[in-house]
Amino acid sequence: MKKRVLITGAAGFLGSHLCDRFIKEGFHVIGMDNLITGSLDNIAHLFPREDFEYYHHDVSKFVHVPGELDYILHFASPASPIDYLKMPIQTMKVGSLGTHNLLGLAKAKKARMIIASTSEVYGDPLVHPQTEEYWGNVNPIGPRGVYDEAKRFQEAITMAYNTFHGLETRIVRIFNTYGPRMRVNDGRVLPAFFSQAIRGEGLTVFGDGSQTRAFCYVDDLVDGIYRLLFSDYDQPVNIGNPDEITIKQFGEEVLEMVGNPKAKLIYKELPTDDPKQRKPYIEKAKRILGWEPKVNRADGMKITYEYFKKVVKVD
Ligand code: UDP
Repeated sequence: MKKRVLITGAAGFLGSHLCDRFIKEGFHVIGMDNLITGSLDNIAHLFPREDFEYYHHDVSKFVHVPGELDYILHFASPASPIDYLKMPIQTMKVGSLGTHNLLGLAKAKKARMIIASTSEVYGDPLVHPQTEEYWGNVNPIGPRGVYDEAKRFQEAITMAYNTFHGLETRIVRIFNTYGPRMRVNDGRVLPAFFSQAIRGEGLTVFGDGSQTRAFCYVDDLVDGIYRLLFSDYDQPVNIGNPDEITIKQFGEEVLEMVGNPKAKLIYKELPTDDPKQRKPYIEKAKRILGWEPKVNRADGMKITYEYFKKVVKVD
């Protein structure tokens, strides 16, 4: 009998890659999504399989899954700043009510549950690089508050189920991640820059571009999550690539890679509460999971560029 795993947000960027990994590892995968930001295109290749099932469902409502469950991966949520600005209430509900429903399901099924937390729990961080011990600098009522606070609540309720009900839980704090299947128009910097460069438009650098991020290739991230789930460590773990870069440098790299003479950097206003710097401290993942990223940015970006060439429409 195959072990059974429920993956929420299965049709999303990370969820769909997780579905692929768990199928590859021999699990029976039950994918769930309400498709407000996900796309069935990401998992269409799995539909003919007997070891894959799909439920169209919003996990903020009571979640029913027939049969046994061994693991639950809660990856449903709008995850780009543009998405959660457009869907603030749904973002709050999926992180809070959705997490509560899934914790209840995990308890009923005696399943182990991992939640997708985020570097956004650190807000606009005053500690650099961000260690798991840092409590963060979050504006609860700013535009990012709906995501940041939902994810902070998600961590809190997950720990409460762990300590009060003895549920087996895992918390991964995910830093910026990229790769094939990112949505072209999700507003995040990498899809924006690639599609603008391919179309020969201005690459919209927000602010002066001196803010930093560190980008992790999706296969590395998925491997970190897989290792964390099967570890016996129940405290939060950062998973990300510490190779930090300014957004301006990042734009220049994309310009060089795409080589479209019509494209250039243009500057737009910096969004409210945009973190000035972000870089994961990953010693915990190295020590406890034996994990570190393997794909450098040049290689990951090449693969990702091939994907964007296929999906970006040029008029
Ligand atoms: N950004 C940008 N141009 C864009 C989109 C984003 O300069 O078209 C910047 C944004 O202000 C932030 C960084 O790129 O500093 C990463 O933004 P993203 O939305 O990808 O995710 P975040 O890391 O802020 O959650």
